[in-house]
Amino acid sequence: MTHIIESYLAKSTNAITSKQRKRGNASAMADARIKHCKRCNLCWEKSLNFDNKKSKKDMFSYYNNFPSFGKVKEMCPKCIRLQENS
Ligand SMILES: [Zn+2]
Repeated sequence: MTHIIESYLAKSTNAITSKQRKRGNASAMADARIKHCKRCNLCWEKSLNFDNKKSKKDMFSYYNNFPSFGKVKEMCPKCIRLQENS
């Protein structure tokens, strides 16, 4: 899996673009966790399957050009953070 991930505390306000989202048999399950943020218009998910157990920071994946149809509408952590800081 080559999903580009970004930490919750990342300061960048730019959306990370996944250059190539690989398709695999796990994609269907992964899709169920993916949510759509209406604020930045990106799909995102909390990344639980990455080897970041040692990290105390939650990791999130952002998907650009990802179909938002049928996805749960939920503001992403990055936008929540921006909103809280504004
Ligand atoms: Zn967002």
